[in-house]
Amino acid sequence: MNASSGLRLPPGTPEALEMVNISKAFDGKPALEDARFTLRWGEVHAIVGENGAGKSTLMNIAAGIYAPDAGEQRVNGEAFAPKSPADASQFGIGMVHQHFRLVETFTVAENALLNLGSQARSIRQAADQLRHKAEEVGLQIDPAKIVSELSTAERQRVEILKVLLLGARILILDEPTAVLTEKESTALLDFTRRLARSGLAVTLITHKLKEVAEFSDRLTVMRHGRTVLASAPMAEVKEAEIGSLMVGEAVAQVHRPKANPGEMRLALKALRFPGQKTQQGLDLNLRAGEVLGLAGVGGNGQEELVACLSGAQNPISGTIDITGEAATALSPRRRRELGLRIIPADRFAGGLVREMTIADNISMTEIAQRAQNRGLMLDRRRMNARAVDAIARFDIRGAAPNRRTELLSGGNAQKVLLARELDENMKILIAHSPSRGLDVRAGAFVREAIARAVEQGAACLLISEDLQEIMALSHRVAVINNGLIAGERSAGEVTPEWIGGLLSGHA
Ligand code: ADP
Ligand code: MG
Repeated sequence: MNASSGLRLPPGTPEALEMVNISKAFDGKPALEDARFTLRWGEVHAIVGENGAGKSTLMNIAAGIYAPDAGEQRVNGEAFAPKSPADASQFGIGMVHQHFRLVETFTVAENALLNLGSQARSIRQAADQLRHKAEEVGLQIDPAKIVSELSTAERQRVEILKVLLLGARILILDEPTAVLTEKESTALLDFTRRLARSGLAVTLITHKLKEVAEFSDRLTVMRHGRTVLASAPMAEVKEAEIGSLMVGEAVAQVHRPKANPGEMRLALKALRFPGQKTQQGLDLNLRAGEVLGLAGVGGNGQEELVACLSGAQNPISGTIDITGEAATALSPRRRRELGLRIIPADRFAGGLVREMTIADNISMTEIAQRAQNRGLMLDRRRMNARAVDAIARFDIRGAAPNRRTELLSGGNAQKVLLARELDENMKILIAHSPSRGLDVRAGAFVREAIARAVEQGAACLLISEDLQEIMALSHRVAVINNGLIAGERSAGEVTPEWIGGLLSGHA
């Protein structure tokens, strides 16, 4: 199948959507700077970029959710400045967000009715319109079903139908496949292409490279709020280029910790987990006093690997040795006792508890450990002292021991996590995108803290989509692709071509 053929349009057909020099800042922090985007009728246009690149913000602007600080938009050649999603809908723009907006206790038809305004007067009318649209575009849905009983894929179909019923001709899907199985993803992507071929325009936001090539006609790549590749025909981009465009060029670095490799701290042999394309498994060795950077485009097995290492998930097969001990079957707690520490990619999903105080978050793991060993006894004074000490040592701004952690900025919340994980018993640190989303200063602080820990003898596996972060700290760099190590080099021998090729799996 040739995905790159697009729909043939009569000459002079205006673009479906044009966005020119769009800028937008949140609380003074730029999220978009001179971003550009051009969408053509009849095409599926992928927007890719790592987390935080500005993809959702750009499309939220087109969908009337945010007003840009600067820039121009046109729909079908006409000037366009939507003040609300309803406004954008008048221009034929409809967006399906990452988090669905359905009333759980209502039926599908009731949800549609809520959305349709004067277009439908009764549940029956809404159900009829749904059924009709579903048939027209080839999506299956039962209007009488209660939303809470629907699968994720079904809910997504309801969201898409809702938007299409409102007359969307420009459909924006924000990371639609993130919540789907591989089979469901293929079905959805297939659907988007059929829709485009019928004359609509579809924007597909994703941070997964793999999906892009096969199902899209053109590609826009965003990085740090800028358009680094604008509307390139898929057939003309090399996959290797996309990888390096997404993560940026590797730059030379100064703060890298002194290399002093010692005893083996982490050894993975033929580790198999879901998402790997072949049976061969992942091998990896990490010594005390070194940083191994694991570069890769998100969605290539990084999450699964971290889950296997932390003990949150069992590998299908293969072995994990931690400080020389067979750890494959050990609980997360036992692994922690061996000195394993984790900074997860999502600090709140996997590390900190939003609603808890800073003192509780800092002492949480230690308490769990002691509770296991000799019964739970909270020593509030000690917890408080630890928090005071951590706040000072890690320069955690806006913090007090009894303040709720969610009140901290991202950078300061990350410091709370560091203060807890980088304790004196740490032997191995698994750091997953530790400075993602942080401002320059907080990011530098996090890197310094890791570098210092490694110079004092810790081993660090640094997993990141950001090549600058990888090159700042790593002594060796490996590339993960489809859950396997695609190649490894010492940091001094890493070149953009080598890494770009491996990132996209085209060595
Ligand atoms: P992407 O969709 O590519 O992952 P986003 O567009 O969501 O990226 O985010 C771009 C940047 O803008 C990020 O730094 C994010 O934290 C920030 N951002 C997005 N929405 C908001 C908001 N409503 N308030 C404050 N900051 C925001
Ligand atoms: Mg997003």
